[in-house]
Amino acid sequence: MSARVLVVDDVLPNVKLLEAKLTSEYFDVITASNGPDALALVKEAQPDIVLLDVMMPGMDGFEVCRRIKRDEAVAHIPVVMVTALDQLADRVTGLEAGADDFLTKPVNDVALFARVRSLVRLKMMTDELRMREKTGSQLGVLGQGTMASEQPLTGARILIVEDRQLTAERLSETLAAEHDVRIEGRGDEAAVLVRGGDYDLVIVSLTLKDYDGLRLCSQMRSAEATRQVPILVLVEDGDTRRLVRALDIGVNDYLIRPVDRNELLARSRTQLRRKRYADRLRENVSRSMALAVTDSLTGLYNRRYMLSHLETLIARGEGASKPVSAMILDIDFFKSVNDTHGHGAGDVVLAEFAARIGRNVRGVDLAARMGGEEFVVVMPDTDVSAATMIAERLRHAIADEPFAIGEGGPLNMTVSIGVAASEGTGETSEKLLKRADDALYQAKRDGRNRVVTAA
Ligand SMILES: [Mg+2]
Repeated sequence: MSARVLVVDDVLPNVKLLEAKLTSEYFDVITASNGPDALALVKEAQPDIVLLDVMMPGMDGFEVCRRIKRDEAVAHIPVVMVTALDQLADRVTGLEAGADDFLTKPVNDVALFARVRSLVRLKMMTDELRMREKTGSQLGVLGQGTMASEQPLTGARILIVEDRQLTAERLSETLAAEHDVRIEGRGDEAAVLVRGGDYDLVIVSLTLKDYDGLRLCSQMRSAEATRQVPILVLVEDGDTRRLVRALDIGVNDYLIRPVDRNELLARSRTQLRRKRYADRLRENVSRSMALAVTDSLTGLYNRRYMLSHLETLIARGEGASKPVSAMILDIDFFKSVNDTHGHGAGDVVLAEFAARIGRNVRGVDLAARMGGEEFVVVMPDTDVSAATMIAERLRHAIADEPFAIGEGGPLNMTVSIGVAASEGTGETSEKLLKRADDALYQAKRDGRNRVVTAA
């Protein structure tokens, strides 16, 4: 999935330089040379990230950033300010305007790519949550006003992992006026603390004496309980190598020593805001899950939820280059399982079938049970050849390993699958599923245990 980057600068050679660098790393680059054009493009093209020059005639970068962050439709798009001077005042003004990060001209390649990738990754996670929340609202399982509540950002739980006493105290003093702050000087103690601590933000020094701060960050990112906790790292000025490693690991942001008080406040605020937002989305998503959107036997989504989700994806994809694909799966000769071995065995087969689907689709795919022995997998941003490959993988996952049903088993089962992709304007979930269903019918006629792709 290549991310779309909007580069904004009033000096053409600057635009061309960034465009060339990013294109060589397979980003999809669009450009603008002034504020109003940039704002129009942000709305039209919905980029995944904006690299924004500060000094521009007319509307400057700060104002462009403010307007992006004030508009609910595009406020989630990360903005990186590109400044000619490494001015602290500029940084603070930018952060107050809602910027997510800074790059200083001339732009360092490694920092540029690592930063863009890290922000794009975060955005893709948020996009997925936003979309599922939208599906939930359409189903009426989420109340009104869930998007509105903007509570004050105080009382957050913050852990500072730093063994330089003076620095730790200075950071803590700055944050303690509004938050609940704890200092931990030992890295190994911190690793234990974060696991059960339910922290809203963890600030990690990368120059601890007794422990590798990068290791702490990577432990936090790989553990389920701490994967979403924002991490701010403290790095020495010029230590690009460590910083790039940290960004690759997935830390959210960084502070260069000596830490400026305003910058600390502003960057913490940005991370806490993002955490609140993600928490709320996740809460809404799980609430919507609990409300009858799943099939009780298999744990997969039910037909109603799948249809609503597919509608959302098709509407979003209108005019986009990447299609939505869907496959319909029907277990071959399922009736004979029920007839020969009883409904108990039939249910065991259905549950195992669903589990194998779950293991063999990607995280972004959505699997649902339509009813009986019929299932659907919805695949966003997936062309028909990729969808067909996933379908083949599923077919193998069913046919290659017999199903244990206890007495009378194991049973050799197979599945027939029809695949179709969305086709531009006028597409509906009904039409798309009809084409997949026709393909499935063809697979059955051709002798079952096969994948047929709609022409
Ligand atoms: Mg300029």
